[in-house]
Amino acid sequence: MRLRAGVAIDLGTVNTLVLISGRGLVVEEPSAIAVDRATGQTTAVGRAADALTGKEPRDVEVIHPLRDGVVADLDAATAMLQAFLRQVRLRRGLLRPTAAVCVPTGATWVERRALAAAVEAGRPRCNVRLIDEPVAAAVGAGFELADSGGAFVVDIGGGTTEIAVVIGGRLVRAESLRMGGNAMDDAIVAAVKTELGLLLGRNAARRLKMALGLIGDTPEVAEVVGVDLGDGVPRVANIPGDLVAGALERIVTTIADAVRVTLLGLPPDLAEDVVKGKVCLTGGGALLLGLASRIEAAAGIPAMVVDDPLRSVVRGAAELLEDHAWMQGLR
Ligand code: ADP
Ligand code: MG
Repeated sequence: MRLRAGVAIDLGTVNTLVLISGRGLVVEEPSAIAVDRATGQTTAVGRAADALTGKEPRDVEVIHPLRDGVVADLDAATAMLQAFLRQVRLRRGLLRPTAAVCVPTGATWVERRALAAAVEAGRPRCNVRLIDEPVAAAVGAGFELADSGGAFVVDIGGGTTEIAVVIGGRLVRAESLRMGGNAMDDAIVAAVKTELGLLLGRNAARRLKMALGLIGDTPEVAEVVGVDLGDGVPRVANIPGDLVAGALERIVTTIADAVRVTLLGLPPDLAEDVVKGKVCLTGGGALLLGLASRIEAAAGIPAMVVDDPLRSVVRGAAELLEDHAWMQGLR
């Protein structure tokens, strides 16, 4: 038996992942909880709760407790995490488990405390260590802590985009945009409403984003169902790729510009590392079709999507958890 259980937690705006040392990935669910309006009792968490989003059941409120990468509703975040941890039966070893929790670099002190508090409230009680998300992302992308080479990581999540240069487990530079996949979905909803007079749900917009991405110059179309703004009747429509690509343009440009600015003025030795290691794209947003080539064009250096981008942060955090010397150095 391990003396001390270790648990890595990536509490993302869209997805929560939990990995337990020696057991592997035990939770991979949407960050959502459904609560009975009358009693306040939890009726569903994760996938089952998220499936009710936008469908407005009368007696149930669906809460996504994180916004822009940080806890917006502490009670709901705590209840959700406790439900996940109960499901996986995290056991105490002889010592309290250590929980490594990933936080966006742009989170304020108050937001960091809220995130730690949500985990600390769980059972069994854990010693919480906060890890800067890009550091975990770099390790998850295969950069070793012992390496003196710099890594350039862009993590595009649901609510935030983290752009950072990391070296040997330390941040050299970091930029955090409070914008990511959710903003892309909203932009698609707004464009389809203005241009086609059709009201889409978030999930339909997300499916369009995944199917079409930035491939606006091809004759691709994708079918969705929305509600006609004129007569309120549901209608099927074929959405052209260039409408979706156009809707995403402002967000993609903002991300690409921030990448370019973060690259400016790097010390020459570090610049060499970055060019050799490429710009590493991770997080679910990295899967957006055509994004890597847009970033590559803006940065002027090669960009690539890491293996398994939705899980690289939690895997990196779990590796850091095993590195006792590094963990000791965290406050
Ligand atoms: P977070 O860490 O904020 O929870 P994730 O890294 O889990 O976010 O990524 C979730 C985001 O990635 C969502 O906005 C989702 O729509 C988006 N995403 C997932 N797959 C794709 C895809 N194939 N194309 C574009 N976006 C995607
Ligand atoms: Mg994330």
